[in-house]
Amino acid sequence: MRIDGIRTWRLRADLSEPFAFSQFEYARRETLLIEVSTDEGGAGWGEAYGPAAPAAAAINDFLAPMLVGLDPRDTESLWHFLYARTLDHGQKGTLLAAISALDIAFWDIKAQAAGMPLYRLLGAGYAESIPCYATGFYFGGSVPLEEKFEREARLYLADGFRAVKMKVGLGVERDAELVAAVRRAVGPRIRLMIDANHAYDPVAAAALARRVETQDIFWFEEPVSPLDIEGYLYVKRATSIPLAGGECEHTRFGFEPLLRRRAVDFVQPDLCACGGISEGLKIATLASVYNIHATPHAWGSAVGQAAALHFYAARPRHPASLTAEDKMIECDRTENPFRTAIVKTPVRFERGAWYLPQTPGLGIEIDRSALENFQL
Ligand SMILES: [Mg+2]
Repeated sequence: MRIDGIRTWRLRADLSEPFAFSQFEYARRETLLIEVSTDEGGAGWGEAYGPAAPAAAAINDFLAPMLVGLDPRDTESLWHFLYARTLDHGQKGTLLAAISALDIAFWDIKAQAAGMPLYRLLGAGYAESIPCYATGFYFGGSVPLEEKFEREARLYLADGFRAVKMKVGLGVERDAELVAAVRRAVGPRIRLMIDANHAYDPVAAAALARRVETQDIFWFEEPVSPLDIEGYLYVKRATSIPLAGGECEHTRFGFEPLLRRRAVDFVQPDLCACGGISEGLKIATLASVYNIHATPHAWGSAVGQAAALHFYAARPRHPASLTAEDKMIECDRTENPFRTAIVKTPVRFERGAWYLPQTPGLGIEIDRSALENFQL
């Protein structure tokens, strides 16, 4: 089997209402999908996290020409080939997102060729579904945030979620008020996580953590800059709330110090950024050495979402015990037509859980005519 073409699809969709988090506002969603075709007629799909244009350029103008004629099932060799060709110029960021998209597409093809859903090819036994947590409670809109968040909380509870994640980063005082409001709205039994998207310095992050400790916070995500491991450790010393992070990190080399120093209690590689399935597996294995739970960050289209699900389904229990498995995967609830409108059958979501696609490969069927509606 040989790669005979790699096509990039830059997608854009305007949102009905903009939303914001601590770093910037989204008025539209954009993503980059890639389609790898082979001389045997099949196609595999991948996605790059982050700005679509530079990732598309990295693939079209640099990486894709090197790949034509190679066997896409050689995932490990191809990953190292691509990484070696980019190491001198970009060990993180866009080039890794581009490699991630290619790697996911190669795994999609490999699993289709094997006639297995990807998670089975990765070595997992049959799995039906994975419980997820709702990612929402963003800023923006014309309604006061307390009111908006109360409404959202009701929706998530009605959808069967047992865990929710809210944004923070509006200043310690305001965050503390809003965390208390969301806790009141969801009640005491729902897991509540907070995510600052590195809005704070260590002193402010520690102050916020102490302020919300009484609200039973399951984790505090990206309290400080992803570059500031000492800052993570400072926050950890100041609070009993576990820390999470990793969505801005890439490759096992980037994750290693974060894990070795126990800067995070939950590590969150994004498969569409960290280096794809191949590298995500290595990061999760490395995390297991330090007894740290790897749970993927997932904010993309149906392609990225399926990649995260298959990857996570193939991770072993952590830690091993007789009690029920406590896996929990991210479920972005912000407006994103690329989760549903570009596939013939969206990944099934029911009562707070994602159901694993059971057809070969990623198990999603892309609707090309729908893609064209969003293509730039
Ligand atoms: Mg986050």
